[in-house]
Amino acid sequence: MIQKVSVHGGHSASYCFHAKDALEDIILTYIKAGYSWVGITEHMPPISDKWIYSFERPFGWNAIRMKDSFRRYGDRLHYLKEKYRNDIEILVAFETEWYEGCLEAIEYWIHAIKPDYIVGSVHHMAGIEMDTSPKTYGQCISAYGSKQALYCAYFDAQYALMEAFNPSVIGHMDLVRIFDAEYKKTLLLPDVWERIERNLAYVKQHNLILDFNLRALVKGQPEPYISLPILNKAIEMDVAVVPGDDSHGIGGVGNYWEKGIEILSANKARLNWNKPNAIL
Ligand SMILES: [Zn+2]
Ligand SMILES: [Zn+2]
Repeated sequence: MIQKVSVHGGHSASYCFHAKDALEDIILTYIKAGYSWVGITEHMPPISDKWIYSFERPFGWNAIRMKDSFRRYGDRLHYLKEKYRNDIEILVAFETEWYEGCLEAIEYWIHAIKPDYIVGSVHHMAGIEMDTSPKTYGQCISAYGSKQALYCAYFDAQYALMEAFNPSVIGHMDLVRIFDAEYKKTLLLPDVWERIERNLAYVKQHNLILDFNLRALVKGQPEPYISLPILNKAIEMDVAVVPGDDSHGIGGVGNYWEKGIEILSANKARLNWNKPNAIL
């Protein structure tokens, strides 16, 4: 029997403008779907108005209000974890950002929210939203001068984030491929691949987990994050790879679970999941 789990998900309209449904309803959906444990990993708020996602600007909130809302998220999630403790193991978590000023902000939120763990994710490069649209992705490439340079800088940023916090889960490790039609080639460029191997070695050494991010399939990617060559390298190195549905509403709970298990089984990944380490 394969345990149903998620290391990354539970984004909710209660605390995130680009998600749907109330946090409690999402948790109830995980319970109904028979999940053993789930990490609820809402996005940390922007450190200032400048960092509000472009697609969240129309809601008219400012960073101060978003931070207040995020404090309430922490309280609420600890409450719901207790409320449903006999039905499901909820892990209190949040998903990071990584741009100038995030180091201090992540430290702050670790103290404020007291999560069980954090998901280390990089969504910005050169101060630009990398994964918002092909246009912003193109701006990131221009900022570094080439696609290869963007990939290298992305994996370096991820390494810096890991060294700073040892996040128990690495969110969508190869998100940098998002709008690159030729990503299968780009990932294997020697300068890029050696960084991927370096990051995998770090993940292994510190007993972290790679998010096997199934929302990639919802968003039209040909395969989950991580891509097959990285998955196979991780399996060879015995790096833990654990599904994350990255749900952004009830409809996202458990999405593509079967497909994910099929890929992991076909590549002989371990299906006895590691649970994220408690935060240090
Ligand atoms: Zn999100
Ligand atoms: Zn993310």
